[in-house]
Amino acid sequence: MNDPEIINLNNSTFRRLISAKEIEEKIALLAQQIRKDMGNAEVPVFLCILKGAFVFAADLVRNYDGLCELQFLRLSSYSGTDSTGEVKAYPGLDTDKLKGRRVVIVEDIVDTGLSMNYLLKDLRKYKPRTLDVAALFTKPSRLCHDVKVDYSCFEIPDAFIVGYGLDYDGLYRNLPAIYVKE
Ligand code: 5GP
Repeated sequence: MNDPEIINLNNSTFRRLISAKEIEEKIALLAQQIRKDMGNAEVPVFLCILKGAFVFAADLVRNYDGLCELQFLRLSSYSGTDSTGEVKAYPGLDTDKLKGRRVVIVEDIVDTGLSMNYLLKDLRKYKPRTLDVAALFTKPSRLCHDVKVDYSCFEIPDAFIVGYGLDYDGLYRNLPAIYVKE
């Protein structure tokens, strides 16, 4: 799929806000910046927040020119159980692997900051050495929680966006650019 300026899907019109090329260039720069900040001795853990950040995380780690690990976390309003029946806050996440490590949370978008504020507080209990936030998008005019985004690609206005991993009702995650519904 390419990234035309206007697309019509499911009887809705979408206007392109950010092109695939612009996203690609920003992520390459962001990966370089993180690599520089980490230095040679560090093997950071990138923690991809599912589902929306999966495309961003895939591109970020492929642009990261050094050793790194990738883990996935699903924020949900309920807890799951693992095979031992133990209640786990984040099923599938090996929380032991965060201890003493430099962890970078990889998120699609920080909107009001509510989710990130919660996540930052909660993940600190697993004792990472550092805990940073990389967000593809921030909406500064909507932010109402005390969240510091260490690495951000784009600041966008207060609009609902889709594409590049972000969905509307499960759809449009596969669009290669960022679109606003008209
Ligand atoms: P917050 O807790 O910061 O208010 O919201 C964060 C979450 O809301 C994001 O991870 C994302 O899932 C969803 N979200 C916020 N703004 C948008 C948007 O413009 N488009 C889409 N698709 N999701 C959004």
